[in-house]
Amino acid sequence: MKITRIADAVVPIRSEISNAYISFSEMTASAVAIHTDAGITGYGFHSNGRYAQSGILRDRMIPRLMAAAPASLLDEADGYIDPAKAWKIMMANEKPGGHGERSVAVGTLDMALWDLAAKARRKPLYALLAERDGRQPDKHVFVYAAGGYYYPGKDIPSLLDELSGYLALGYNAVKIKIGGVPLDEDRKRIEAALGLLGPGQRLAVDANGRFDLETAVGYAEALNDYDLMWYEEPCDPLDFEILAEVAEVSKNPIATGENLFSVQDSVNLLRYGGLDPERDFLQMDPALSYGLVEFERILDAMEAYGWSSRRSIPHGGHQFALHLAAGLHLHGNESYPGVFQPFGGFADAFPVHDGRVEIPDAPGIGIECKQNLWNVFKDL
Ligand code: MG
Repeated sequence: MKITRIADAVVPIRSEISNAYISFSEMTASAVAIHTDAGITGYGFHSNGRYAQSGILRDRMIPRLMAAAPASLLDEADGYIDPAKAWKIMMANEKPGGHGERSVAVGTLDMALWDLAAKARRKPLYALLAERDGRQPDKHVFVYAAGGYYYPGKDIPSLLDELSGYLALGYNAVKIKIGGVPLDEDRKRIEAALGLLGPGQRLAVDANGRFDLETAVGYAEALNDYDLMWYEEPCDPLDFEILAEVAEVSKNPIATGENLFSVQDSVNLLRYGGLDPERDFLQMDPALSYGLVEFERILDAMEAYGWSSRRSIPHGGHQFALHLAAGLHLHGNESYPGVFQPFGGFADAFPVHDGRVEIPDAPGIGIECKQNLWNVFKDL
């Protein structure tokens, strides 16, 4: 198998929402298609929160893959392209550390390479991963509805309307933003949301890395009054000292990691973040953090520090992480009903049921099974 052409495009995923830190009114993403002489094409994209990566893709990563001797990319066992070999070639002459947005560009191509790897073997990606490791894939994956964003004029009744909509769609866990308004107002939002939930339904809250030490700890103490699924990203993603203080005070689980883009950053979190492997959750997003090749290194690091893969629940709400959740035995996956389209969400014919979602048996990631997403890729 030989790569014949790699196309990329910039796709807007703008929406009028904001969290405590940024507005998404100008958000974009990169989409790539890797064409091969076998007539199979792999498709990849990255998730929301980082902008399109055209420069790094076109100046460095795509030229390196195209310049590589075709045989140097192949899995010797069956002659298909090996994403791990491609990863090494993409990362040639890149210094360690300072990961910046390079990890997003590599993650985008890595997704397409795995789509290709699974399609070449006529298997859905989750099955390829599970078979490779000799495990039974999960039949259904836990997903929660991430929403509760702030936008102008949104009051508590409209927040509750939004959350009721998620429950009606089949979710039984929802997440809302905090930190965009004063604590007293957030308390009212949280209490209203909890009041809406029935038995077995859970609420998580997400501060998007906004708080300083005093505020993060103050919120942790206030949130101790409630039984939450988790308290997410209380402080700057790389401030492990604040995180450790919050983790110490909090009775609720802590979740973080969506803005850590490498195995080394993840190791530092595991070493210094004060997190509890029996209580807390990690949210590293494979599409933003150098792809599945690096994500498997992150899972290995988690294991070395006493964390089960079941404590991983990636950020991003995309089909790629859903396959990883099923095939690598993660806790579950994020989901954004109605926002970050067309990249957010799963196969059209597989709605959420009782808080879980099934994956179609289409080969690859199943981008072709989500019509509005396929519309982005079909001409690429
Ligand atoms: Mg978050």
